Amino acid sequence: MLETTIAGSLPKPRWLAEPERLWAPWILEGAILEQAKLDATILAIKLQEDAGIDIVSDGEQARVHFVHGFLANLEGIDFAKKTVMGIRADRYKAEVPTVVGPVRRKGPVHAAEALTARAHTRRKLKFTLPGPMTIVDTIADEHYGRREDLALAFAAALNEEARELEAIGIDVVQFDEPAFNVYMPQVAEWGMATLEQAAEGLTCKTAIHICYGYGIRANIDWKETLGGEWRQYEETFPVIARSSIDQVSLECRNSHVPIDLIRLLDGKDILVGAIDVASNDVESPEDVAATIRAALRHVAPEKLFPCTNCGMAPMNRNVAYGKLAALARGAELVRRELRKT
Ligand code: ZN
Repeated sequence: MLETTIAGSLPKPRWLAEPERLWAPWILEGAILEQAKLDATILAIKLQEDAGIDIVSDGEQARVHFVHGFLANLEGIDFAKKTVMGIRADRYKAEVPTVVGPVRRKGPVHAAEALTARAHTRRKLKFTLPGPMTIVDTIADEHYGRREDLALAFAAALNEEARELEAIGIDVVQFDEPAFNVYMPQVAEWGMATLEQAAEGLTCKTAIHICYGYGIRANIDWKETLGGEWRQYEETFPVIARSSIDQVSLECRNSHVPIDLIRLLDGKDILVGAIDVASNDVESPEDVAATIRAALRHVAPEKLFPCTNCGMAPMNRNVAYGKLAALARGAELVRRELRKT
């Protein structure tokens, strides 16, 4: 009950990539880099276990970016052909690769770090992949023309990868779809259907993470424009509730999301973001417990998984792991209360 987990990414050690920077380039190269990514994965697992996290992740230590990391081993993408594009409805500009032909998976993308993570923990293990709609929003297209067609091509590649991750022993495959909070009508039109294609046939738990983005300036500025109540989830949750996806990871702590919206996800596991990744103030266990208690008014304890709001990749490492320890302690506080009643 109240098993803790994380949204996905964690800060990398400074011997691997420049700290406290989003999309930080690697410091090492060649075979040494490949080994260092795996060493960092083992370290991230160990630090999550020591912080008391129940369902751990590889911390996305082996990829620079949560979308482009997956694209690295696909055919049909020209990484040299960079296009500067406004992404997430022009919230920020990013230099993105370009689709120039049919998208196909050349081989395993994340198997090395998934195998390493699996070999070094007995806890439940979660692995994240970008969702099709978010990939389409983070890449330029000169081949498919229609966004939904491109999304379906990525869904097929994601499904192959996800099935392999499951075979490696991953317990939860999570698809990250921040774009679901930006293009709400398209979620119902084709976003959810393509995501279900990506998860098709999986027997492990499947999850979707929808958030308001990392704690970077462009996102903080965007949040200021959303008003006193953030109701984006209200449009997409009913669509997700009808889907085959098991779990929904959402932002909650320090956000203006009305918590009662989780009632729209009746039947799903809810990963409640009880840790703010946009602030360096480490929550107290009591802060975490308060968020969990508020969510418990709308979801049963066996369906609630205390989590972080979003990935922690650009954070200070000590702050991030301090927050994970607070997450675990806060969950334990509420578990004790529930056992007494
Ligand atoms: Zn996120």
